[in-house]
Amino acid sequence: MANFASQLSSEIEQILPMVEATYKDIHQHPELSMQEVRTSGIVAQKLRDAGFVVTEHVGKTGVVGLLKNGEGPDVMMRADMDALPMRESTGVPYASTATGVNKNGETVPVCHSCGHDLHTSWLLGAATVMSKARQTWQGTLMVVFQPAEETAEGSQAMLDDGMMDRFPKPDVILGQHLFQYRAGSVAYRAGQILTSADSLQVRFFGKGAHGAMPQNSIDPVVMAASAVMRLQTIASREVAPQESVVVTIGEFHAGTAENIIPAEAEIKLNVRTTNEAVRNHVLEAINRICIAEAHASNAPKDPEFETINNYPLTVNDADVTKKVSEAFRSYFGERARETQPEGASEDFSRFGRAWKVPYMFWFVGGTAPEKYDQAIRDGTYLQLPGPHSPFWAPVLHPTIETGIETLLTAGGVWLAK
Ligand SMILES: [Zn+2]
Ligand SMILES: [Zn+2]
Repeated sequence: MANFASQLSSEIEQILPMVEATYKDIHQHPELSMQEVRTSGIVAQKLRDAGFVVTEHVGKTGVVGLLKNGEGPDVMMRADMDALPMRESTGVPYASTATGVNKNGETVPVCHSCGHDLHTSWLLGAATVMSKARQTWQGTLMVVFQPAEETAEGSQAMLDDGMMDRFPKPDVILGQHLFQYRAGSVAYRAGQILTSADSLQVRFFGKGAHGAMPQNSIDPVVMAASAVMRLQTIASREVAPQESVVVTIGEFHAGTAENIIPAEAEIKLNVRTTNEAVRNHVLEAINRICIAEAHASNAPKDPEFETINNYPLTVNDADVTKKVSEAFRSYFGERARETQPEGASEDFSRFGRAWKVPYMFWFVGGTAPEKYDQAIRDGTYLQLPGPHSPFWAPVLHPTIETGIETLLTAGGVWLAK
């Protein structure tokens, strides 16, 4: 059973040219979050060609493909399709020169620097192999291509569009992400593997006045500045040192001229935590501190809090991870290894959380082996380009085949005959 992917080696080899062509095509035609129209069209067509029952426009541009192949477990595999608003500087012959229009109506460069083009191509490859090799497995394969992972909207948009009522509840949910580990390797972890992220905006209210008459004002700049300083004490004074917490205030806006005390100030924060209890505490503390600073300034009203977006924690199910990692080690040998949690965040776990289904998320390496080994020898691993770097270009092989093999190996745990 653990050698499911080995049984399928000739099918994998046959479809590699198709997957590589699809990858380069999607790479050259990246689309911003919730605008994945062309990409989802390609996905739907290829799934139909492979015999899947396809539903399009789930959560705007999401695609769900179902392949029922007799009685057995239902395995869901998920990929994301969106690109980022940035310019590609990789220099590969198939680099993106595309532009897109963002939510503010501005034209921006767009590229697949997070690797979602590869995630989509891997899952299309695995789906195609499964459709060709139906004699080797039984059960139901559900492939989910979600929009807008980068803006934390996509999986929620699909769930809000009735995903749980419209499709069968899976027994397990699997997902993977390209990372700057050695190409050909897979890295997994039971429990927390990615952090949660919360972005929020806080608007402080004061009273405007002439800059020379501060006694007539309630200064929102001082109010917000005090809050910014006090917010630093959450990580340093309210959370145990062994926990990892980040509270970053990345935006601070107030005023229009140096001699006018404005009536309002606005800050935007980004919070990263690695467990639910700490996350709740930090969010409560932000609320408490901002309100208390407003009271200390005698503000006319309490600050307003608005969620910009949030990503839940990604916490891999222990039992699922045990089974899948055994299969990974059996198939990949030394190329499979346990890893530490990464500081990034994902909206993948929303599916498992909403459906109350165990899930597992792992990383597939994409850095050329000689480059990776050199960086490890030189101690420069942290300088290697990775997701969201304009220089991040995964080496095509063995990265493409590895991401197909990981999906098949993991899916085979439930589906292989
Ligand atoms: Zn990303
Ligand atoms: Zn990503």
